[in-house]
Amino acid sequence: EMKNDATTVRVLEGSETGFATTRIDALLGWARKYSLFQYPFITACCAMEFMSFSGPRFDMARFGAEAPRFSPRQADLLWVVGTISQRQAPVLKRIYEQMADPKYVLAFGTCASCGGFYDNYTTLPGIDKVVPCDIYVPGCPPRPEAVIDGLLLLQDKIARGDRTPAVVKPRIDPV
Ligand code: SF4
Repeated sequence: EMKNDATTVRVLEGSETGFATTRIDALLGWARKYSLFQYPFITACCAMEFMSFSGPRFDMARFGAEAPRFSPRQADLLWVVGTISQRQAPVLKRIYEQMADPKYVLAFGTCASCGGFYDNYTTLPGIDKVVPCDIYVPGCPPRPEAVIDGLLLLQDKIARGDRTPAVVKPRIDPV
């Protein structure tokens, strides 16, 4: 017998067959965490690191979150990558509103998380001024390992139904 909070798996004695029982919310959380369709909202230099993260070296595909959808109506994970200006803010908000529930938002990099070093009237000081943000990944740009940390943390929260915002610990550049 194997057991976690929601699921129990039993294999019948002397047999290779068995059965599992679970809760419907746990089953939905498990399915959602491995079928994220992303909408990449990419504006600035963090895009270079996003490409690295998406490519074969770091391989976002192995986490079941690589399929991009360029219609927000078909996406459930909004990646906000780069600096967001005040003039872009209403567009970002509109994109978010067009996504179907349940939907999740990840701030990729310090600019998206809090405005970064842009302390001026044109830059939005963090995307959470216009959309709710689930995961903040700091770094200028963040290392791909930190982004993976953020994605895994988000998947864990989706599985548990936890919508509390969280900040990922930055990774240090290797020397
Ligand atoms: Fe560019 Fe740094 Fe801002 Fe990313 S966090 S968009 S790398 S200035």
